[in-house]
Amino acid sequence: MPDSEFEIINRYFARKAFASKNIILGIGDDAAVLSTPADKQLVVSIDTLISGVHFPAQTSAADVAWKALAVNLSDLAAMGAEPAWFTLALSLPEVDHDWLAAFSESLAAISSAYHIPLVGGDTTRAALSITIQVAGHVQSDRALLRSGAKPGDQIFVSGNIGDAALGLYALQQELERTDDIIYLLERLNRPQPRVEAGQRLTDIASACIDVSDGLFADLSHILRASGVGARLRLDHIPLSEAAKHFLSEKPQLLPTIYNRGDDYELCFCVSKENCAQLDAVEKRLDCRLTHIGEIVAGHELQVFDREGKVLDLSDDSYDHFAEKV
Ligand code: ADP
Ligand code: MG
Repeated sequence: MPDSEFEIINRYFARKAFASKNIILGIGDDAAVLSTPADKQLVVSIDTLISGVHFPAQTSAADVAWKALAVNLSDLAAMGAEPAWFTLALSLPEVDHDWLAAFSESLAAISSAYHIPLVGGDTTRAALSITIQVAGHVQSDRALLRSGAKPGDQIFVSGNIGDAALGLYALQQELERTDDIIYLLERLNRPQPRVEAGQRLTDIASACIDVSDGLFADLSHILRASGVGARLRLDHIPLSEAAKHFLSEKPQLLPTIYNRGDDYELCFCVSKENCAQLDAVEKRLDCRLTHIGEIVAGHELQVFDREGKVLDLSDDSYDHFAEKV
């Protein structure tokens, strides 16, 4: 390994890593040594972010680092897992110390906010890409799957939907940075993965997914995996005040909210008898849990407007949805 790579690891990643009980050995040897508690199962996921593909090339190093770990934590959240550790494979076109300092600071901030230490990785010279692998723990056989939804289950989402999609639109259109747009951009660049919500739902929800590709597309994954259909009320889908203001000026963007991704909220199903437990769960969270629809027999996703009219999702204005499913 060239000295510069050793220096990068040592200066920016090894020194910022923190100790945790399941980490026998972290960064510095040929591999990390990790333990998993006897009554738990390991939940593992990996995601790559490529500059110009998964984030605009001008995104700041701090936002890239945050998002790279956040999207992976969101996968752990969707499984109901408790974060345990992560590894980082970083490809850099050049050694840019300002970039690395901002990247590693922000990575350390989200890593400690979610109690997930960095235990190893790889550093190479190539076009900018960030691959993060996360691992978490769940009580044995308690992971939340996409496949458990049953007719009669009620459908909920955490937080608000569509902020990130509107933020991306504002960025691409170079709109003036009003307070609303600053909020939407923050939601795009600094998603708050619903890790605590996921863990609290393991004994309550029948199925769960994180909304990364768009609410309709991701709910459709639950429907396919569970062999069921769903009826959604469009006007029940929760929107932030900023999104509502934005949409009042640009109502043509409404389909964008449901068909574009990057929300990193949870969409989950709960049997009618378990719904009574959700109030207590919500009180302990820093986000709302909103009822948006119901699982039904069949395999279709039907979306109703306020007047009870079924929306035609194959309509031109829903073309992104058509592309995705
Ligand atoms: P090897 O040549 O044996 O693969 P490396 O030089 O790639 O070793 O890595 C040396 C140590 O530094 C290992 O513990 C590895 O996990 C860690 N490491 C390398 N790159 C990173 C990184 N970007 N973030 C965190 N740890 C890293
Ligand atoms: Mg290596």
